[in-house]
Amino acid sequence: MAELDHPQSDLEPAAARLAEAVRYRTVSYEERERIEDDQFAAFGEFLERMYPRVHAELELRVVGHSRLYRWAGREDGAPAALLLAHQDVVPVDDEPSWTYPPFDGVIADGHVWGRGTIDDKSRVLATLEAVEAALADGWRPRRTVYLAFGHDEEIGGEHGAAKVAELLAAEGVMADFVLDEGGVIGVGLIDGVPVPTATIMVGEKGFVTVRLSTSDVGGHASMPPRRTAVGRLARAVAALQDKPMPLRVTEPVREMVARVAPYLPGVRGTLLAKVAKWDKALARVLAMRPQTASLVRTTTAPTVIRGGVKPNVLPQTAEAFVNFRILHGDTVDDVLAHCRRVVRDKQVSVELAPGERAEPSPVSSTDSPHFRLLGELTTAVVPEAAVTTGLVPGATDARHYHRVARERFGFAPILMDSTELDRIHGTDERLSLDNYARLIRFTGQLLRRL
Ligand SMILES: [Zn+2]
Repeated sequence: MAELDHPQSDLEPAAARLAEAVRYRTVSYEERERIEDDQFAAFGEFLERMYPRVHAELELRVVGHSRLYRWAGREDGAPAALLLAHQDVVPVDDEPSWTYPPFDGVIADGHVWGRGTIDDKSRVLATLEAVEAALADGWRPRRTVYLAFGHDEEIGGEHGAAKVAELLAAEGVMADFVLDEGGVIGVGLIDGVPVPTATIMVGEKGFVTVRLSTSDVGGHASMPPRRTAVGRLARAVAALQDKPMPLRVTEPVREMVARVAPYLPGVRGTLLAKVAKWDKALARVLAMRPQTASLVRTTTAPTVIRGGVKPNVLPQTAEAFVNFRILHGDTVDDVLAHCRRVVRDKQVSVELAPGERAEPSPVSSTDSPHFRLLGELTTAVVPEAAVTTGLVPGATDARHYHRVARERFGFAPILMDSTELDRIHGTDERLSLDNYARLIRFTGQLLRRL
């Protein structure tokens, strides 16, 4: 492991600030009335107290509770980068199973523990740590940099990132790139690859939910029709599950495999390198596991089904929701058309569910100086890491910023094995002090290269 040049004496107070950040319950709930506004307001004040130089020298605009900072560059011209992170966290529903209470912000066993230590308060604070330190050194970026910290990323970013991006678009901002959460440096995540793999996300899948519904006259269960509403609907859901959208290999996946194959020892590496030349074969190999299947197709996930009121009464209505994560090359309309084709039942209505949807994002090229810069800075903090690419399977705030940046990347240089990754949105979320030091150092180096 690389020696970290971040002095321990700086890391301790930085970790204490992260621990304190956890204590603000900036929780995003789907039921918006449960959101504690005063916690967000207090968190904002806390940031202002902790990072006085940032708040004296950068221009700040607050949108809802989202915070947009503009750090003027030494030179005129288009801004270099938009660094994104989000202040909100997901709720905790299993508080008793946590080793330390999720909002206590405890530092123990070389880790800062609590909700948000990975996702995503560490990235908010690491960015501020890096800027504060640069300002203390009297340093300013060559070109303008924006920092944007959303407050409702976990529930879609409609009131935060969407509004901030709108504001930037209205001002004609077009940055070289956006950097947000997404990939990390995986340890032991790719079977057989002996080195950590730094996955820099170069795009984001889209998403949409489709609602299936059917109705019937009802009546007593003793004289049922050939199919009840529940039976008809179940059949439609099963058909969708059994007939997913077609497999497809896209450029980021081809590139990912090409970058990883050389690290696979012996015959497996040679085989993978061979297979990678044949899209069809590669798609089949990747489709074998859910973790990689999501890279080669639009995924189908029936998530909600309901209908009927009583065991001995025929149901009058039934409905189901099926969630799709849309691969590049497919669109929301393609998904809907696919569903109608597969369900093929005039009595089942197939429509887009109300609520959010998103087309897949544009894909950034790895043949870009910014991708190379992120890769270079990554190997500066973890020299043995293999730098590869990926697609964010979920949705992050970055998707709101397509109009105001030419390229987008999702990455944080923190080392995570599968157990650590499970803690994100899960129990015992925590970040090691080493990872936090890496994150701060990486961000500081990045700023100095803009
Ligand atoms: Zn997040």
